[in-house]
Amino acid sequence: MVSQVVPVEPFDLVVFGATGDLAQRKLIPALYHRLADGQMPDTARIIGVARTAIGREEFRAMASKALETHVAAADLTDDLRRRFLDCVDFVRLDVTGDEGWDALREALGRDENRVHAFYMSVAPRFFGSIALGIRKAGLAEGNVRIVVEKPLGHDLESAQALNRQLGKCFSETQIYRIDHYLGKETVQNLMALRFANTLFEPLWNAQYIDHVQITVAENVGIAGRGPYYDTIGAMRDMVQNHLLQLVCLTAMEPPAQFEPDAVRDEKLKVLKALEPLVDPAQVVRGQYRANGESGSYRQDAQNPDSHTESFIALKLGVSNWRWAGVPFYLRTGKRLRNRLSEIVVHFRKVPHSIFQGDHSHLHSNVLAIRLQPDEGITLSVTIKDPGPGGMRLTDTQLDMSFSSGLKRPVHRMPDAYERLVMDVIRGDQTLFMRGDEVEAAWRWSDRVIGGWQGQEAPHPYDAGSSGPEDALMLMHRDGRRWREIAT
Ligand code: NAD
Repeated sequence: MVSQVVPVEPFDLVVFGATGDLAQRKLIPALYHRLADGQMPDTARIIGVARTAIGREEFRAMASKALETHVAAADLTDDLRRRFLDCVDFVRLDVTGDEGWDALREALGRDENRVHAFYMSVAPRFFGSIALGIRKAGLAEGNVRIVVEKPLGHDLESAQALNRQLGKCFSETQIYRIDHYLGKETVQNLMALRFANTLFEPLWNAQYIDHVQITVAENVGIAGRGPYYDTIGAMRDMVQNHLLQLVCLTAMEPPAQFEPDAVRDEKLKVLKALEPLVDPAQVVRGQYRANGESGSYRQDAQNPDSHTESFIALKLGVSNWRWAGVPFYLRTGKRLRNRLSEIVVHFRKVPHSIFQGDHSHLHSNVLAIRLQPDEGITLSVTIKDPGPGGMRLTDTQLDMSFSSGLKRPVHRMPDAYERLVMDVIRGDQTLFMRGDEVEAAWRWSDRVIGGWQGQEAPHPYDAGSSGPEDALMLMHRDGRRWREIAT
């Protein structure tokens, strides 16, 4: 079996903010890999835009450096690098001004059948002027798409304002709101697992599932963007977007087709069914304190009195027939013991054990979908301990990771941006958030945030730990425990 790469049509991708971190660290390497795999044609063009005073050759040198830094040496050949850089162009333009747009129009050419994608890899305060600039320059006609990234607002009102602003210049079918978690292989595999097998879907409900845990743990702190992060916090930075998207994919009903609006309609229903968190005990906010060499959150934020959370754990419910009574426990934080993102589905225990002896060491079935590090899926099952000695039971893990079971080697796990940028070019919005989804997620999040305004400071936790004690209690009270964030 060979991997099937379907080439996309030639395209022009304009990257606003092309000298910035996201463009250099993610977008340029992602596009290089798509060229290397034969998906991006040599006639495609990547037009970097920034206000930095450089020309095409300097930008190409910058892109070349980005490849050296972010592409594995074994994957970077001189020939491919040259072919890739031949596709790269640069236009200097300050998006808040009027100059430079003519040069961008020149660089783009006039072929209206060619896909023109505009990636806004800049701070969101520029989204409006870029959208207007594109329209005023007459570049919004034809096969045009725009791509925006989080943060998509900081509350419902600002998200609505942003949607209105973009909506003035583009239709919803032209707007691609990226949540890169949705581009991860394992997240898509969750959908394959649920909807391409008969095995799981009949069990995927309150009758067989005890609870779901979603963890997005980071070991890094906020240093480098401290004062900015301090105005945001973990709820807005991570839960409102990434974690709620993972809840949606786990909890949604099967869509009629794997098709953009069918999938997004189902995700929206989940967001609308989220129970309001009225009980303050269902939310635990934390803030890391200094530990050994690691400084404290407040030092990193340069705010000695900060009440912003660098950690949050919450218990939420999805109010519908499928999920009634099944808690979803979410947690995310900075400076935790390790970097780990996973969705873990804990099935119920068997209703009655026919086996004699003490089986208290055994667990119920657990399906763990790991997004990072080492993307993969494992299912823990109970089996007979092999060999003589009576009917002894033991837990074992079925590894459903990509490399072990496939008949072809998986040389490299593609980064989420590779898939998502190619989806933009193909015009497939399935893995992108619709405007009403973003608003529904803010509507629920705003109420949670409103619930703690004026309340006590976040609970301190040691940098390098699993978070505050109270987050453990959130589960202990229910007779459950978090999966360990192993070192
Ligand atoms: P950055 O600060 O590193 O880069 C910003 C870019 O915008 C630079 O190229 C700069 O030259 C350009 N720029 C600034 N003002 C401009 C102007 N007036 N006209 C033209 N260009 C201008 O930012 P980043 O980390 O690359 O992030 C870009 C966007 O992506 C932000 O909205 C960020 O929140 C979002 N994002 C970034 C990441 C990431 O990993 N870096 C992840 C998710 C979302």
